Amino acid sequence: MEPKTAPKHSRKERRKKDRQSVPKKWRLILPILVIFAAGLYVCVLGYHYIQAGQQKKEEQKTAAAEKKRDQQLLTTIEKQQTELGNKVVENQTVDDQLQQLTYLPITAQKKLLKQELETLTAEARKQLDGGTPFKLVGYVKKEMAFGKVVSYLPVVDVYQRKAERWEAGSSSQGKKFYMNKETADFPSVTDLFQDQATLTAIQPLIKQQLLDEAADKAAAIDPILNFPEMTMEQKILSYSPDKITLSLPENQLGLKQIGLPFSKILDFTDSAFIDPTVITANTAPPLDPNKKYIALTFDDGPNPITTPRLLEVLKEKNVKATFFMLGQNVVNNSDLVRQVAAEGHVIGSHSYSHPNLTTLDPDSIKDQVQTTDRAIANATGKFPLDFRPPYGAINKTAAEIIGRPIIQWSVDSEDWKTKNTPKIINRVMKTSYNNSIILMHDIYPETIDAVPQIIDALRSEGYEIIPVDELITEKQEPLHMYYGNKSEQVIQ
Ligand SMILES: [Zn+2]
Repeated sequence: MEPKTAPKHSRKERRKKDRQSVPKKWRLILPILVIFAAGLYVCVLGYHYIQAGQQKKEEQKTAAAEKKRDQQLLTTIEKQQTELGNKVVENQTVDDQLQQLTYLPITAQKKLLKQELETLTAEARKQLDGGTPFKLVGYVKKEMAFGKVVSYLPVVDVYQRKAERWEAGSSSQGKKFYMNKETADFPSVTDLFQDQATLTAIQPLIKQQLLDEAADKAAAIDPILNFPEMTMEQKILSYSPDKITLSLPENQLGLKQIGLPFSKILDFTDSAFIDPTVITANTAPPLDPNKKYIALTFDDGPNPITTPRLLEVLKEKNVKATFFMLGQNVVNNSDLVRQVAAEGHVIGSHSYSHPNLTTLDPDSIKDQVQTTDRAIANATGKFPLDFRPPYGAINKTAAEIIGRPIIQWSVDSEDWKTKNTPKIINRVMKTSYNNSIILMHDIYPETIDAVPQIIDALRSEGYEIIPVDELITEKQEPLHMYYGNKSEQVIQ
């Protein structure tokens, strides 16, 4: 038998021993673990460090390659531009995706071309789809003749970086700027308008544009009626192939300049400086030489009884006519005047109270002209561009004050004399001919009764009825009077 106490004791002892030996073991394992962990940490750290270093090296390599390719492209562009005679004027890094370069001719007036390039570049920027880096290169191409610059064409080229290389993308062209062939510079007032007479001829068009642009039209009418004459002293502040900005003489509106689209002054501008597409788009097709044309004009109105009846007839027959109105009738019938304009007819001036202008002093003539212009502009927002003097009576003084083409007539219906419908029809049909202008008055009921039959009879004879300003195909100038198409006289 074994003693009972011995194992009891030894168990206790062991337990005691165990309690003492466990921390001893840990005291050994813990440092090993710590050293191991530290080692591992250092390894991981080192690995990452090496990785990062390699990546950085890789990135540096890529960046260097990119920079080299970038530099190569810029060198190529620079070389091309030098060959074109251009020099860099702007090099802008917009962001890390976009660089913009602008090259301009070494000589030449640069401001206008730069403006055009800015517009073109802004347009090109809108087209970029993003994601990859771009370069926009704006420059001008010269066209030469006999050693001189004839025109400048603004261009913007797009370069896009794709993967490992730069690719030339889209290229857009602006409007071609036409130069004075002698000076190789932008056109001057003399280049565009030649002489004072031409500048005088565009004055009514400028006045209309001033009215169109006025914020308070009613308040602008009088200052515009008294607008000083444009002279050859005026400067072209900016030129582009579809528009110019012209300096203005000192005026009551306080305006310094006006932007004038060539489309409005085509007849009076040297076409060598105008974008050909503007000319094509704004030139009426020529009249068919195998057809017959004629124009109807109605004077002395409007009349609240007879004019609305005439408008009904013209609408039914689909005819556009020209009305030479008296200012005194316009002021009392502005709704009717608006209706005439709204229905597509042309309104001209026939003076205010129907005097013989050749018997008046200049101030009275001016008053007759201005009061009518004011009345028509108040009613319709447009100044009359054509003038027909009462009785057809005109002299140089009156024509100068009027400052617009004088529209006479070649066929007199004599409605004012006969006031008889069959006689009016008979007279018109007997005396009408191709390219002629017929004179009638929309204030006689007998005339209104005659008009539908006149229209039908003219058409059955092969005439096409068109407004006066379409019938007269030559340039319509102040101090000239027109009796029909190709029937023109200078007022002496
Ligand atoms: Zn009259």
